[in-house]
Amino acid sequence: MGKHVNITIDGRSILAEEGRNLVEVARENGFFIPTLCYFDHIDPPLGTCRTCTCRINGKPGPACTEKVREGMMVEVNDSELSDIRKALVEMMFAEGNHFCPSCEKSGNCDLQHMGYELGIAISRFPHLFKDRLIDYNAKRMVLEHNRCIKCMRCVVDVVTDDGKRVFSYQNRGNETYVGIDYEQEAKLSRAQAVEAMNLCPTGAIMVRGESMGQPFGERKFDRNSIRPDYYDKQFKAKKRKGKLTKKTIATASLAGCFGCHMSMLDIDTDLLDLVELVSFDKSPITDIKNFSKQCDLGIIEGGCCNEENVETLRAFREKCDILVSVGECAIWGGLPAMRNTMSLGECLEEAFLNCVTNEEGNTVIPYDENLPKLLDKVYSCREIVKIDYFVPGCPPDAQHIWKAVRNLLWDENYSILYSEFKYD
Ligand code: SF4
Ligand code: SF4
Repeated sequence: MGKHVNITIDGRSILAEEGRNLVEVARENGFFIPTLCYFDHIDPPLGTCRTCTCRINGKPGPACTEKVREGMMVEVNDSELSDIRKALVEMMFAEGNHFCPSCEKSGNCDLQHMGYELGIAISRFPHLFKDRLIDYNAKRMVLEHNRCIKCMRCVVDVVTDDGKRVFSYQNRGNETYVGIDYEQEAKLSRAQAVEAMNLCPTGAIMVRGESMGQPFGERKFDRNSIRPDYYDKQFKAKKRKGKLTKKTIATASLAGCFGCHMSMLDIDTDLLDLVELVSFDKSPITDIKNFSKQCDLGIIEGGCCNEENVETLRAFREKCDILVSVGECAIWGGLPAMRNTMSLGECLEEAFLNCVTNEEGNTVIPYDENLPKLLDKVYSCREIVKIDYFVPGCPPDAQHIWKAVRNLLWDENYSILYSEFKYD
């Protein structure tokens, strides 16, 4: 056994073997340091993603490249450091195109998991919607550059039997991307290619014919939570004593699929509370088309893809005291925003003229002055009006929505369970 040294993590003294990796030592002692590029057998560690940023002897830096030494003082959990780590992961989401509901890696993805772990509901950075070409040229692999976080795992760890690298960084600065050497890639066995796919912390590397799909409940990051009922009991007791006044909610589905509305109604027996305590004004639930009064709460599903959506959203802002974006489409555009990677003209041509499922010889893109005009791209709700709160999910879990509503309308405490926050 090697020499032991004394270190301090968040004020706690720890005895650790000298020279061991700080992330490992921290984890063994109950301190969670998020990592994305770190992989146990890649030595030396890469230190590329910086999501493990901690304060080491007073200076911020990546924990994964540090070996423990005598007297080391480490700070992991303070609000500034947590916010730095969160911002780094938010940047990764904003810089790539991460449409998780349509991604093969969903549920097995380290980046997605990190988003949940850090409680990311929304990226503070605007989404870039870059249109990077997907590389289908290799023999076994497909490289989806829009999901790559440039962690470098594949660059250093995927090699052929004769020691040649398969991946390399190309270009510089924000144009950097990971290229494949097709000749070397063709030498990999299928098993080696699948290993490379599993090494990638995101869904950037895929292998043809190797679905990453596993049943829900068996994926890498699936886990259940047990719902404590003490908040529910408090809420029901207050209702019985008549302490909760009836409130008015309005809802709208803009550029969304109605999934969030369906989820909202999936609260089982809590629907009885909802019916007693809430009256719905303008909403597809009641089919009431116009506001009849000022509402306590407005719930918006979907982003804005046409002029009518913008008009509706502005009316909701005016007529609702509190306005909430519910679901990914309302929060940042979601799946409809897949069209943001191309111009509106290209999108219409693809949909009506070039798509393989279109009628052969069709030369017409439908247009009628009575149809709402499409916007140049899909906008998130907060790009149009001020949004007060965000409930993430695709769709958000029914209980997550109901708890948020209870909190906003009656100031009820609640805790969001991991399985309620997690929605992939
Ligand atoms: S790579 Fe991960 S974060 Fe990106 S879309 Fe796929 S599941 Fe979501
Ligand atoms: S392809 Fe995957 S493993 Fe390679 S750099 Fe990108 S995210 Fe990392």
